[in-house]
Amino acid sequence: MAMEKVFVRFVCDNTVGKLARLLRMAGFDTAYVVDNDVGRVIALCREEDRKIVSRNSRYAELVLADNFYHVKVDNPEEQFCQVVIDLKLTLSTNHFLSRCLNCNRELEEINKADIKEHVFPYVFKTQERFSTCPNCNRIFWQATHARAIKEKLLKLKSAVDRRRQAAAD
Ligand SMILES: [Zn+2]
Repeated sequence: MAMEKVFVRFVCDNTVGKLARLLRMAGFDTAYVVDNDVGRVIALCREEDRKIVSRNSRYAELVLADNFYHVKVDNPEEQFCQVVIDLKLTLSTNHFLSRCLNCNRELEEINKADIKEHVFPYVFKTQERFSTCPNCNRIFWQATHARAIKEKLLKLKSAVDRRRQAAAD
């Protein structure tokens, strides 16, 4: 099997907002520039060594080819599959939902006892594992929402696996 990279960092602009969210859900370090500010995107590419992901072909003239992934399709799930396959990324279930979807920071596990005051009693009673974002301090636990996201990611992972298998045959 070809060498696979996990530690690619991305910067997305608002031409690929839903893709940026999917990449974060899957655990990839993905900066997001809300207002399509080309200068800001390029600065993040250079300063934080991030690969630019955008539908905007202009970046091809502004940065080295290796620093830009040009997204060519509209459907966010298809975009996700193509990025993962083209850049040989590893989709690891261990990394699913390991980042804050708002801040992109890696979540940290916290002791259940430490958050008793901060969540609803029902949640405290029914959940065992909690994590928190070191930036926005939100507390996360396994909820229906998280399960739905994980199922979506697993579906995308099997689509990617099938296509890799087909390409290898
Ligand atoms: Zn956060």
